[in-house]
Amino acid sequence: MPGYVPICPITVTSDTLDVISTISLTLAFFSLAPNSYKTVSGYIHSVSPVKKAANSQTKYFNCSIQTNDTVVRAVCFNPDKKPHLEKIQKGKTAVTLFNVRSSIKDEVESVVIQNNTKMQPVVLPFSYKDISMMSSLPSLASLQDVSLEQLVEVKAKLTRLTAVKTQNNRFGQTLQKQEAILVDHTTSIKVILWQEHCNTLTEEKTYRLRNLRIKESYGTRYLNTPKSEHFEFEEIPAFTQTLAAVATDIESLSQAKMSAKIIGVQTATKSLSCVACKKKVTIKTSGQIANCQSCKLMQKVNACSPQWILKILFQNTNNISEKVAIMLFHQEVTKLATLSSDINLNLISEEELILTLLEMDSEFLITYNTSSNKLIDVSQINI
Ligand SMILES: [Zn+2]
Repeated sequence: MPGYVPICPITVTSDTLDVISTISLTLAFFSLAPNSYKTVSGYIHSVSPVKKAANSQTKYFNCSIQTNDTVVRAVCFNPDKKPHLEKIQKGKTAVTLFNVRSSIKDEVESVVIQNNTKMQPVVLPFSYKDISMMSSLPSLASLQDVSLEQLVEVKAKLTRLTAVKTQNNRFGQTLQKQEAILVDHTTSIKVILWQEHCNTLTEEKTYRLRNLRIKESYGTRYLNTPKSEHFEFEEIPAFTQTLAAVATDIESLSQAKMSAKIIGVQTATKSLSCVACKKKVTIKTSGQIANCQSCKLMQKVNACSPQWILKILFQNTNNISEKVAIMLFHQEVTKLATLSSDINLNLISEEELILTLLEMDSEFLITYNTSSNKLIDVSQINI
């Protein structure tokens, strides 16, 4: 089978392990557990439109990867990759995706197609299949292709059922509603149970649901119990297939954790901020007075507090060939500074800060956004 690359999770290399004590080793493995890298081969199906994650501006799209024996859901946070994936899907081309991230949550695997994921055509010992035929289930993913306001029947597991809430409609009536997430092997979708349908379904049970109406809000589809048609449901056996990751977990899929050391500082910028509005100030030629670029306030230079932006090159301590340049804005710089007693951000110069960071020689557990490379959280790993 030429060019066929089996799915093989890449394990942590052992050459750095001897210098790390047992405690940090445990921590390091813990931090890497939801975040292992691998190669996956198969056919691309169901490339979705670009969507926005719930409660945030994070853009992403999904697709399915038909592998040898299963269909894996994939998510990508880089919309620039969508045309290429669509081309692969259209051509029914067998591909190997190198350096995808595998994230397992609640026993459901999601593959994250990263900025540096490479896709190469391959020859596979299995052929392209209509994935809807791999299952007798009408998929939730196929609801993207159904016209709005239609009534549909789905089979899905009910999760994340909320308490009953009341809401006033535009006629001043008080309505009761309950929300939940329906999930199947392809994707997840929100369902709203109105009025008499509240408190009829049970969380974690799997149902056949008839006569749900397809609605859309801000580009995201959801299901509603109908006003006049008869909504029916029956409990059915749980899925034997692996279920998709719930869309509300998308945000966590855009994040990666890594135990890392600082090996360099690419940029360190200190700017002064206005005492009134916190925006950037410029210093007058006298060197004594600062002028706010935004509110125009004139103020004493030494009353302005510095705002830092750093770009730090971190090295993965479990895979020393992996180096990531991470952006830290003032809030994250402040967090990092609290980990060293030698840093006072109000007094330190750019050069002193760089030197102090390079001399820290600590191991950090960093959480960062894998598409923007912006730091989300940092803590120190105690050796
Ligand atoms: Zn100002």
